[in-house]
Amino acid sequence: MKEIPVLYKRKEECCGCTACYAICPKESISMVEDEEGFEYPQIDEEKCIRCYRCLKVCPFKSEN
Ligand code: SF4
Ligand code: SF4
Repeated sequence: MKEIPVLYKRKEECCGCTACYAICPKESISMVEDEEGFEYPQIDEEKCIRCYRCLKVCPFKSEN
């Protein structure tokens, strides 16, 4: 199985726009609130089919 996509390494690399969450065809991303009340995506490894659509849609990743 391919590697699970890494949506962000540091929180600065994610603005919580939910685009990845919205595009995931397997609904394997959930937005989870951190201790400060900001939501960050979390991938369910069991459900993820490694299509990487979440990475393609992410505004931060496409800048790279
Ligand atoms: S790689 Fe595909 S299935 Fe996995 S979390 Fe991203 S969009 Fe969803
Ligand atoms: S698409 Fe990128 S910036 Fe938006 S919530 Fe997902 S990881 Fe964060």
